[in-house]
Parts: sequence; C-alpha cells; structure tokens
Amino acid sequence: MADVKIAEPPHLMTDLKTLCLATIGAHWERFAQEARRKRQPHADYLADLVSLEVAKRRERRIQRRIQDARFPILKTLDGFDFSAQPGLDRDEVLELSRGEFVTQAANVVLLGGVGTGKTHLAIALGLACCQQDHRVRFTTAAELTNAFVEAKSEGRLSRKLEQMARYDVVILDELGYVPFDREGADLLFSFITRVYERRSLVVTTNLPFAKWSEVFHDATAAAAVIDRIVHHATVLQTQGSSYRLKTAKTRSRRRKPMSTP
Ligand code: ADP
Ligand code: MG
Repeated sequence: MADVKIAEPPHLMTDLKTLCLATIGAHWERFAQEARRKRQPHADYLADLVSLEVAKRRERRIQRRIQDARFPILKTLDGFDFSAQPGLDRDEVLELSRGEFVTQAANVVLLGGVGTGKTHLAIALGLACCQQDHRVRFTTAAELTNAFVEAKSEGRLSRKLEQMARYDVVILDELGYVPFDREGADLLFSFITRVYERRSLVVTTNLPFAKWSEVFHDATAAAAVIDRIVHHATVLQTQGSSYRLKTAKTRSRRRKPMSTP
C-alpha cells in the first residue's frame, strides 16, 4: 500500500533553508512516513533525521578536503602492493593511516629510490587523513619553495606562510630532486620551523640525510632541517628497483608466450 502523503508543515522548508539543512529538507517526509509505519517515537525520528544531515555534511566536507589537498592523482593503501616492499612494515604504515601522527603533530619521511612507491604512499596517507577530516595539502618541495620566493617578492610572504601553516598535514614531495638557491632554502627552512611541533609534514625524498646539505647548501642548515623533521618522525624506507619498470617487465614476460604460436 502506498504511503499516505504527510502534509508539509508551513514554514518548514523556508526554515530548513534558512538553517542550511538541505538533507533534512530532502528526507523529512520519507522518514516521517517510515516513523509512522514503524510507530517510531518522535525523538528517534528527529535523531535519525539529524544524524543523516550530519553524515551527509561530513561526506561533503571530506570530498572538499580531498579536492583542497590537490593530489596529482588518487592512490590508496589498498592499491599498494606491500609484497613489492618487504622492507616496509605494513602494520606500521596502516597505523600511520589511522592519523594519530596528525594529532601528535608528528612527521613521516619516505626515503628511497625513484619509482619505489614514495609518492604513492604519501598520497595514500594524505587521503586517509582527509577521510579523517584533517586539512591536507600536497605539494612538491620545489613548488612550495617557488611559491614562497614569489610571495616574498610580492610582499606577501607572511600571509603565504600562514596559509600553508593552516593545513594539518603538508605533503612535501620530492625533496632533494631539485636543489634550492640560498633564498629558497631559507624560506623552506622558515616554513619547517614554523610548523615544527604544530603540524605534520609528510616528506618524500630520494636523498639519504647525509646528502641533504647538497640541497640546503650548508651542513648547518641541513642539520637544522633534518633535526626538526626527524625529531618526531616515522622514517619509512622503500627499496629496490622501480615498480613501474618491474611491472612493465612482468607484463612483457607475460605477453611473450601469448605471441608465440
Ligand atoms: P616514487 O615516488 O618513489 O618515485 P611512485 O610512488 O610515483 O614512486 O610510484 C611509481 C608508480 O608505481 C606509481 O604509479 C605507483 O602507484 C606505482 N607503485 C610503486 N610502488 C608500488 C607498490 N608497491 N604497489 C603498487 N603500486 C606501486
Ligand atoms: Mg615520487
């Protein structure tokens, strides 16, 4: 039997609109019919409706967090083949994905050669943080440094630093791929100092710490950066040859027998 229509109380829709309760507006009637059918107490009806509004809002906020993070591509831990990285402790990575490091303002350093999955893991951790409602921003070390240099030349450095320091997690990809000039190194250093013990950094690098002085020009500056990043950090080391090359080789090996008659 079809549900009997429930008369819409006057002002309900305008009031819901005023309070920006769009989900309640879209679902109150269906919930009311269900409540009538199930003889649900009024308080439970109200609670169910409000909790749907809360859930939908959280969903939308998380979608916004993911967009604001500006990931170059979406990667997940589910999509990471841990068997290709036997040196990585899967449980440790999964523990990090629960996001406690963010509440502790601790850092993660992913260290390893090209194609070994550093960026993949950094994005996957960042995505997990977004899903826990943290504000995340993905950027490369070079991009961020250039943004600071540009902001400084335009007299808006402190605003830029403040804007970046508002994120709970900043992913600094590819530290060490491109060396900075002294100004760039100093600006990146001031950012790292500013967020030290307040925010989390997820850094990916192909450079062992001993070689960071090549990027930061002098050993003292490099030591100061390493000290701040590594002080409360989990360092994950990826090893072996490039996953891309490895999978490409496996694919071509697989293809061969098919091409032979
Ligand atoms: P890196 O940042 O260390 O140079 P990436 O994370 O960019 O390497 O990895 C290169 C490519 O290989 C990406 O498409 C990534 O998703 C994939 N990849 C690397 N390692 C793995 C892995 N263990 N499991 C699944 N995909 C991987
Ligand atoms: Mg990378």
